[in-house]
Amino acid sequence: MRYHNTLTLSIVILLTAILASCASGGFNVFPKSDDVKLGMQMQKQLAADPQHYPVLNNPALTNYVQSVENRIAASPNVKNKDFHYTITIINDPKTVNAFTIPGGGIYVYTGLLKFIDDESALAGILAHETTHADHRHATRNLTQQYGLQFVASLVLGNNPNQLAQIASTLGTELSVLRFSRDDEREADQGSFDDLNQLPGKPWYPGGANLFLKKSLAVHAQQPGQLQQMFLTHPVDQQRIDAFNADLQKSGQPNPSAAQLNQANYQRYKAMVP
Ligand SMILES: [Zn+2]
Repeated sequence: MRYHNTLTLSIVILLTAILASCASGGFNVFPKSDDVKLGMQMQKQLAADPQHYPVLNNPALTNYVQSVENRIAASPNVKNKDFHYTITIINDPKTVNAFTIPGGGIYVYTGLLKFIDDESALAGILAHETTHADHRHATRNLTQQYGLQFVASLVLGNNPNQLAQIASTLGTELSVLRFSRDDEREADQGSFDDLNQLPGKPWYPGGANLFLKKSLAVHAQQPGQLQQMFLTHPVDQQRIDAFNADLQKSGQPNPSAAQLNQANYQRYKAMVP
């Protein structure tokens, strides 16, 4: 008869528990500092590729979008206040999209700024992106993607450089930023909650829904225009319905003119090349 080593047994128990939480989707094996490190690495890769990610140099416009983001990041609903929620505008008028890197870097395409009509839509989209970073979707996805083998090697301490290896293989393909439908639902919910919990509700908590509704309508007319966004952020009636249900519950189904702040938004939109 052979006896189990107590250490081996406790590792098996630990791994079983981790596997169970992996299956439920919420487990993240990375410390928060890895989100920041991974984000810095991706930021460098993006900055080194101006052909695909040409940064718009317009301080007035960037500061405006950043000022909206700063107020969202201060929402009581944002947990990771130590992340750097920094706006970069990519000068690509054909792309109606935005994305977030781990640790809070948010990239907004000029095509998106041109597509939307008011400040609540901008705030809603930024709050959606903020949630991807705040809820640490990228490293949570990496945990799931690399699965038990990866978690085991971390727990056993076999490969302490694994994060660096993963980061180096990511390149600028941004595969880690392809989020699941569950992540998207969570980011929509976060968008609503971030804005809904801001004192005085400066923006309509359904701001992202204004964008989703317009996207669905435009996509039905000209499917080519929003192709890239629909690949990374599939828009469907379910997402719109989820917003509508929250808006009904909150007792504010429609935005006020002050929340839309349309004239102010249009003033900055006019700066978009
Ligand atoms: Zn998203």
